Amino acid sequence: MKADILEKGAIIQRDGEKYAIAPHIPGGFIEVAQFRRIVDAAEKYNAEAMKLTSGQRIAIVGIREEDLPAIWADLDMSIGHAIGLCVRMVKFCPGTTFCRHGKQDAVGVGLKLDKLYHGHGLPAKFKIGVAGCEYSCAAPMVKEVGLRGTPEGWTVSAGGNGGARPRLGDIIAEGLDDQQAMDMVGRVVRFFEGCGWANKVRLGRVIDKIGLDEFKKALAAG
Ligand code: SF4
Repeated sequence: MKADILEKGAIIQRDGEKYAIAPHIPGGFIEVAQFRRIVDAAEKYNAEAMKLTSGQRIAIVGIREEDLPAIWADLDMSIGHAIGLCVRMVKFCPGTTFCRHGKQDAVGVGLKLDKLYHGHGLPAKFKIGVAGCEYSCAAPMVKEVGLRGTPEGWTVSAGGNGGARPRLGDIIAEGLDDQQAMDMVGRVVRFFEGCGWANKVRLGRVIDKIGLDEFKKALAAG
């Protein structure tokens, strides 16, 4: 059985032989030319499937190990960081850019956060969700940091996750403007950077261990 190849963004598949790769597509917004390159690459390297993922990526599934360097060269896109101990995704919805329900600029803030943190190394996997309104289409309450837009500004939550031991995030701030919300995300990321002992322990469990009040104090100090 082969293993994941982190530096090539290659995820071993069930057959133990072939790989899936997923180029980085911030927010799932993709230009036509990029989309075409992904389709062309999937065809050229005989992919077994293409998959639209929950992380707003397009996975190309069933690629041979020897084809990985060439397919990445053809794609000319960066790795989507779907694996590894890092900020795996900044998922964001169309917000006030396209959605009639939007209350805050999820695309603008999401893109900035993506640029700052996507792939940033941390003690455990870490996800960020940005939703333009309280309908929460980017599922911010089950992300390590979640932003929800309201008419009064951003509500920020921390410590959410899905997975085997799901946890809803704790609300840590409300009524923030764009810059304040991004600053708060930075505080949470810096806090978690300092939790070297939390190897593969997700942020929500860290908050449960130290207590929400202590966590908030650490954020205020950070
Ligand atoms: S969370 Fe709100 S703004 Fe974003 S896509 Fe859903 S309904 Fe629209």
